[in-house]
Amino acid sequence: MSPLELHSTEFALEVQGGRFVRVILDDSGSRVFDYAVPEDVEVARGCRVRVPVRRRTVLGTVLEVTTSTEASGVRFVSEVLKSDAGVNPALLELAVWMADYYACPLENALRAVLPQVIRKLEMTHQERRAVRLVEMPTDDVLAALEKRAPLQLAALRALQAEPGLMAVAELAKRTDASHAVVRALEKKGWVAVESQRVDRDPSRHEQFIEAPPLALNAEQEVVFHKVCEALVPRAPDAAAPKPFLLHGVTGSGKTEIYLQAIQRVLEQGRSAIMLVPEISLTPQTVERFKSRFAATQHEVAVLHSHLSEGERHDEWHRIRSGKARIVIGARSAVFAPLEKLGLIVVDEEHEPSYKQEESPRYHGRDIAVLRGFLERCAVLLGSATPSLESYHNVKLGKYDLLTIKTRVDDKKLPYIRIIDMRMESKKQSAIISSKLLTALQQRIERREQSILFLNRRGFSTSMLCEKCGNVCQCPNCSVSLTFHKAANRLVCHTCGYIALAPTKCPECKDPGIRQQGTGTERVEDVVQKLFPKAVVRRLDADVLQRKAAFRETLAEFRVGKIDILVGTQMIAKGLHFPNVTLVGIINADLGLHLPDFRAGERTFQLLTQVAGRAGRGDVEGEVFVQSFTPFSPAIQFSRHHDFEGFWDQEIDFRRQWNYPPFTHLVLLSIRSPHQGRGELSAQTLAKRIAEDAPPGLILSEATPAPLEKSHGQYRFHLMLRTKSVQRLSRYLRAILDKLPFPEDVIVTVDVDAYQLM
Ligand code: ADP
Ligand code: ZN
Repeated sequence: MSPLELHSTEFALEVQGGRFVRVILDDSGSRVFDYAVPEDVEVARGCRVRVPVRRRTVLGTVLEVTTSTEASGVRFVSEVLKSDAGVNPALLELAVWMADYYACPLENALRAVLPQVIRKLEMTHQERRAVRLVEMPTDDVLAALEKRAPLQLAALRALQAEPGLMAVAELAKRTDASHAVVRALEKKGWVAVESQRVDRDPSRHEQFIEAPPLALNAEQEVVFHKVCEALVPRAPDAAAPKPFLLHGVTGSGKTEIYLQAIQRVLEQGRSAIMLVPEISLTPQTVERFKSRFAATQHEVAVLHSHLSEGERHDEWHRIRSGKARIVIGARSAVFAPLEKLGLIVVDEEHEPSYKQEESPRYHGRDIAVLRGFLERCAVLLGSATPSLESYHNVKLGKYDLLTIKTRVDDKKLPYIRIIDMRMESKKQSAIISSKLLTALQQRIERREQSILFLNRRGFSTSMLCEKCGNVCQCPNCSVSLTFHKAANRLVCHTCGYIALAPTKCPECKDPGIRQQGTGTERVEDVVQKLFPKAVVRRLDADVLQRKAAFRETLAEFRVGKIDILVGTQMIAKGLHFPNVTLVGIINADLGLHLPDFRAGERTFQLLTQVAGRAGRGDVEGEVFVQSFTPFSPAIQFSRHHDFEGFWDQEIDFRRQWNYPPFTHLVLLSIRSPHQGRGELSAQTLAKRIAEDAPPGLILSEATPAPLEKSHGQYRFHLMLRTKSVQRLSRYLRAILDKLPFPEDVIVTVDVDAYQLM
């Protein structure tokens, strides 16, 4: 490509009837510039290019190839990069749509489809150095190395253990051998350094035994047949198939259907994406995929947040080059650069973790539906507790509903009992009701397993002084600090602030300071004291920080070494433990009284999913739900596994108050370290919108956010609801670009917001 550089500093004014490209520069917001393309150079939409900007050159992405330009002083493109580093046209279109819909800069949207690690490493990966063993020195020499150059010895041993090429960086990671060490070995002729490409495959050390497909039962068969009808490859001008919503109770064999549908797509020579809510919490699902496709294991790419940059880079190229045709991952995997996409599955489609909480604030499920539409491929959304949005789309005829009403092998759904804690608490047995206690006792005697859920980690929720009423608060956020007993620390669950737990009240110095409220750590403590001989373990975000401990606990639970597992909702997802016959929900009310119109929906989903962990084996399961508001609809409908009933009453409420799914909710967040400036900016913005908002807009007043202060920032909210969201997004982009906010005020737009705190 070097001849091009001859042109790069000249202006291309003279070009007549030539070709031009519209280029968005990396890290430039939404600014787009035109460049001319020399005649002999191939270029297409989505190509990565290097272009001159003043005296430098920078990288950018081609949005469009045209035959004319309005710009003057157009310069030539300096270089068109190798084609495998670009964005494919469908993904480019997706990014453009995303910027428009979510009111974010186009460059932010492009960063989702072309991640930073691909852009950064694309220049270096040809130069990436790899090393291989040429000849192992004699034992005498090795003995000498052991004394004088232990790193050289370690490097040789590592290369000997794994024949073939190894990246120098990988070698350094394993043995601490620097480039200098490698050079020393090269000089002696023991190793050779090459610049060949090496793939870092994070699962290369794993072995999976092939697991053949199961024979589907009658209900599964009906669903599978319908899905297959949508899997027929389509002509480029044909309409996209309608997305499916698969509503199947917990343990009804949805995952088996995903696996067989993906198998079908692979046989057609096409590819598939499977989205899961949070990949590190669904190890069983990943294992099932890897075993099912064990014969072609290299075809499964798993994208998750624990990959190193290098691994992420290599997985991306493995997908892009067509070597991996199945991608499993959390929300960002929806942008996997697969060609010939045949199916996108979104498991647990109701999960809020599909929503990205930073720009671009997209919803993984909604992007899946759009991508399916753009690439004319089938989309299968699955859940035991569909979101109201998706079920509404069924009622509107936008999605086709598929239903599985019974569990595999006719296993019964667990029996759910609601325990009125208002009666219990009089009896002074605060955390575990007597009925739950008896049930736990029985399980221990029968050597069956139990899970206890509480959606709050830590030991107690706060520390309160009985004398002056002072509650220990986070200095940066408007929340109380949580006491963690094992660490003897107070922790802010919002910003991570940590302080030593006080022995007396920090305000009045009274020693009568005590913990109030209950977290998972206290439940573990209490249960262990109640059942001293039982093995009790805890799984929550605190444990997850130590990845090995987390996996170990899951594994021990699976083989039956643990009697009672205490955890937060993170263990409610996708786990399958046949020996669990009892699930206890310590406090079902926790999420119910949040200032969020989805509070009821969330509670219904959580209770149903959690209850679904019980009775997956041969013994029927039992669930105890402890609540102070036992008659709230979310609790009563989940008790009877009655999604339709819950839907009927909840959708009425949404309709009456114009909440989603009848409108789109757009949340404007105004933050500032200065309270007054934040408030004034919020009010100014509200006034401005009230003046010339597009018609049909429901605009609420500017109010302090429920979480008024976070990370040292004061927060204000402005809630907008509309039926035509794209028009509102464009309007907001236009006015926000113009309004002169003070420098320390940050305004963000969240379209289809989920996080309302
Ligand atoms: P879901 O995804 O709906 O929770 P799964 O697909 O995980 O359900 O199925 C629950 C259990 O039933 C799994 O252990 C799975 O292997 C098993 N299973 C699913 N389909 C069948 C089938 N057709 N025959 C026998 N077992 C099945
Ligand atoms: Zn804080």
